[in-house]
Amino acid sequence: MSALAAEHGALNVAQGFPDLETPVPLREAVKKAIDDGVNQYAPMAGDVGLREWISNWYRESNGAEYDVATEITIGAGASSVIFAALQAFVNEGDEVIIVDPSYDLYAPAVHLAKGVIKRAEGIESIEKHLTEKTRAVVINSPHNPTGDCFSEEDLKGLDLILIGTNVLLFSDEVYRPMAHDSRPNLSASHLPNLRNRTLIFGSFGKLFHATGWKIGWVVAPKAITRELRKVHQYDVFSTGAPIQRGLAKYLSTEHSREHLRNVGPIYERKRNRLLEGLKGTAFRFTPAEGGYFQVLDYSQLKTLGDKPDIEVARELTINHGLATIPLSPFRESQSESALSERRLRICFAKGDDTIDATIEKLVAIDKFYKDV
Ligand code: PMP
Repeated sequence: MSALAAEHGALNVAQGFPDLETPVPLREAVKKAIDDGVNQYAPMAGDVGLREWISNWYRESNGAEYDVATEITIGAGASSVIFAALQAFVNEGDEVIIVDPSYDLYAPAVHLAKGVIKRAEGIESIEKHLTEKTRAVVINSPHNPTGDCFSEEDLKGLDLILIGTNVLLFSDEVYRPMAHDSRPNLSASHLPNLRNRTLIFGSFGKLFHATGWKIGWVVAPKAITRELRKVHQYDVFSTGAPIQRGLAKYLSTEHSREHLRNVGPIYERKRNRLLEGLKGTAFRFTPAEGGYFQVLDYSQLKTLGDKPDIEVARELTINHGLATIPLSPFRESQSESALSERRLRICFAKGDDTIDATIEKLVAIDKFYKDV
């Protein structure tokens, strides 16, 4: 969609990257690390100072302990460690339950490992798909693309249904400090039982509006970490040494603490700005509970409502200058649920001018299809 947006000069709220500024002191810290000569390989597990910060973050935010040496690993974005972990743990014929619609990395990574995908509609229906062959369950909160967050009850429910099994839980929490409307910033590491079977993924790109830096992490119990590092060692090995060092230095400052306190509320305000602007249109939505994506249902728009989402996303990009992301690619292709998707995803991690321009386009689109 980004390529199509560029081709047609459309406003791009499709791909999930922020156009907000990476904090200046963080940029300075990374530049300084380069000038200070931090330009050779970082340790395989990641910069020690950065792992210490990650360990403190989980301890302070939800009382979970992760050992710096043996339970925290830094990779080339959360993607690389999600991918490495799936390759490490999924063998031929193993079943992996993902919750649809789901982030588009999980399924191909499972396929490559010759695993079998089982698609649950919502966390509450995971239990239905559990079998003797289930190797792992993948959850994501705040969720890309829907913006949903799991609740304490969801986690307790998962904990209960997984007791007595060897199933691993992959919890993709890259948008974690961005729960909206006073929701708690929950992590699956919060429940001690669950923690022991769970790999949790995070991303500095999301936290500091620096997705291009591709520095992410996984925390997991020692025995799990040992296995996933066997893949990490040979696919990525180590990544962005000066960026890691700059992040570690910056994270010890009050500026970073302030930034992390504000990053959720900033996005919540942006979500509100967008949704306020759509009042009175035929777009239907449930406000995103977290993260920086808002899903809009266009099924009530005249003539558009009957069309598949990929076609609509193309039509809006080419004819109306607004690039969004259709939801069906986050589902099994050609499945009934994919074919009946009538929703588009908008990334609202954008400057207010871009949000206002998005509103203007969506209001014009609403009017155009009312008048046809
Ligand atoms: N998980 C989810 C749900 C995401 O949205 C993304 C980024 N779009 C990632 C993982 C990957 O994060 P990173 O950029 O740190 O690899």
